[in-house]
Amino acid sequence: MNAADATCDACSRALGRSSFTFRPPGGADGVTKCLRCAVRHWPMLRRSLIASLVVGTALTALNQGDAIITGQLSGALAWKIPLTYCVPFLVATYGALSNSRN
Ligand SMILES: [Zn+2]
Repeated sequence: MNAADATCDACSRALGRSSFTFRPPGGADGVTKCLRCAVRHWPMLRRSLIASLVVGTALTALNQGDAIITGQLSGALAWKIPLTYCVPFLVATYGALSNSRN
């Protein structure tokens, strides 16, 4: 197939200048997706969520553990703790997209 005729495996839209190929473990053929479908690729999102839970929990314990243990919770924790979980999610997702970009 000519590269100009390549289409997204998920939505069949013509791939623009950026396409992403996700390969399952074991070296099997992967799927090639456009950016809009790549950011919704469930196996990648699942790995990013796991990284977010592990790293976000560790960072929250390190940074806010004393406030949580002593019960001195401030209103600022309402945005600091969710943001602490968002950062590793975004980093893992960006890394996965960068590695799968064609
Ligand atoms: Zn697509």
